[in-house]
Amino acid sequence: MSGTSEHDTAVARADIDDHPVGPGDQIADLADVHLEGASSDDVSHGAAVYTPSVLPPIGPYERRPATLEPWDPRAIEVAKAVAELIHEHRPDLVVEHIGSTAVPGLPGKGIVDLSIATTPDDVPAVAAMLRDLGFGPQPGPDPWPPGRPMLVGSIVRAGTTFRIHCHVLPEQEELKRDIAFRDALLADPALVEGYAALKTGIVTSGPLEPHQYTYRKQAWISDVHRKLGVERRPITPPATIGILGGGQLGRMIGMAARAMGYRIVVLDPDPNCPASGIADRMVVSTYDDVGAALRLASFSDVVTYELEHVATEVVDAIDVVKPVRPGRLPLHVTQDRIAERRFLESAGVEVADWRQVRTTEDLRRAADEIGLPLRLKVSTGGYDGRGQLRLSDASEIDGAIERIGRPPGEPLLAETELAFASEVSIVVARSAVGRIATFPLACNRHDEGILVESLAPASLDPEIPERAAAIGERLAVMMGITGTLTVELFLMPDQRLIANELAPRVHNSGHWTIEGAATSQFEQHVRAICGLDLGASDALTPTAMVNLLGTGPAREAHLDSLGLARAMADPTVHLHLYDKRQVFERRKMGHVTAIGPSTEEALARAKAAVELLRWTDAADEAGGTA
Ligand code: ADP
Ligand code: MG
Repeated sequence: MSGTSEHDTAVARADIDDHPVGPGDQIADLADVHLEGASSDDVSHGAAVYTPSVLPPIGPYERRPATLEPWDPRAIEVAKAVAELIHEHRPDLVVEHIGSTAVPGLPGKGIVDLSIATTPDDVPAVAAMLRDLGFGPQPGPDPWPPGRPMLVGSIVRAGTTFRIHCHVLPEQEELKRDIAFRDALLADPALVEGYAALKTGIVTSGPLEPHQYTYRKQAWISDVHRKLGVERRPITPPATIGILGGGQLGRMIGMAARAMGYRIVVLDPDPNCPASGIADRMVVSTYDDVGAALRLASFSDVVTYELEHVATEVVDAIDVVKPVRPGRLPLHVTQDRIAERRFLESAGVEVADWRQVRTTEDLRRAADEIGLPLRLKVSTGGYDGRGQLRLSDASEIDGAIERIGRPPGEPLLAETELAFASEVSIVVARSAVGRIATFPLACNRHDEGILVESLAPASLDPEIPERAAAIGERLAVMMGITGTLTVELFLMPDQRLIANELAPRVHNSGHWTIEGAATSQFEQHVRAICGLDLGASDALTPTAMVNLLGTGPAREAHLDSLGLARAMADPTVHLHLYDKRQVFERRKMGHVTAIGPSTEEALARAKAAVELLRWTDAADEAGGTA
């Protein structure tokens, strides 16, 4: 059976809560996030109140942080009243009261969840009818897509305002799951008790962070679904995975997916990109071509991305027709460094002191306030240390804005340069039903902004990887990630962890997992985006990864064959080449992984191998004889 059983984005947003929630609601479980400065109009977090112009039966909806309230019997009457209202207009529709307000005794957010299942063609008409009743669009940064909308409103009963979520589903499957879950709770007081305990844990936290309860609850619910036989169908081989971006990350995601029997279609401007050799089909175009992206989506059962620099419109357009994973919100948050800083701060994660600057005047003020040396970074499009300047002296401020080469007035990020003890990164995977697996922490070394080495598991006091994992897991939950998320962190001499950068994807610092972990980051990503359970993320052995960078002028890429043979004479060494046609100075061409009794020993082996690998200057000896 092909993965098309999971045929629309409705299922992309798991019914992972007591009521079906979108990622926006998951955020509401935790701190309220702020996305000012995020690049899209539909990141409408600021607009918390929807107010209709005339006074219909359904009142406005106010978004507010979640609190856990005891069950209120009036919720049943509210649900009944709204169902009757809907029936007056559409007697053919069945309105189901689902979620925790439908289960006597269950505490919850007090939001009355109603669900209507219809056909895809009828969804717009049902949504329009609900709007006529006074329901408004779902607020928040990551609403359900138009094909499976959730409308919101409220009704006042005896002085109390009851908030209402009205879900319009294009098919029956999701509703069946919600009804089965509700009915199982109605039939089993022990189940209600267990569920209530989990929900209470989220607000009373105790020693665990709230996000840990959130994902434990999600895992618990998905276990109940499985027992009831109503779990969501995963996307299974030979379904097709669409990948936005055909670089080495797309190539390695594709290789893991192919090993499992999936088919691959890749969108990239370069027909000879690294992923082209492993793709079943290429769509050759730029990352901002909405038409090409929709073509990719039409061939795909699920779409993922290997880079953040994909136009927002592209992902939004795909999101309407096919699941996009890890999701829209993670992309919105991470493709703009300034939005990312704000998000990290709202999540309570420490970042370096920073200022948004547009002019030399701003920069001078920022330097006064946050000190020198500082890093000036473009807010969009930078990678591998590109798009940033180090300013160590006041004399370098003049002309710096011009030197960074962006149009005048574009917002830039100025931040304190940190004297870190080391750089570390954590790769977290979150499954479609909210389970989380976190890889061991990697310790990274960069050279002029480009990653050169990763060692894992980092040899640190275990308390540090635990804290890093908690940060990664919390952010993955808050962003509603389905897939992998990487958090780059600075470890300070005083042991503080300061977040530097997020990537809602697999990461160079996770390449070690191919040989070093029970499941590679690439397989983990594929499992997550396809709705399968995650693999074990333990390290199997100390591992080191060293990037193989290009040297010399741009030319056809050939490695000296004898050097390659000598490098691989060490049986602990593994070579990964990305099949880039051209080599040039500092281009990421491949990587070498080595295992060993310690990360230091593994690093020595990997480095020795990389030393032996040389890019030839002529194609004369390419190939050779075996
Ligand atoms: P990129 O998108 O290019 O990876 P980063 O912000 O991660 O951009 O910067 C690349 C590298 O530059 C970092 O891994 C780190 O080595 C160095 N760097 C960046 N910002 C700072 C900072 N504020 N203090 C010290 N080093 C920094
Ligand atoms: Mg970085």
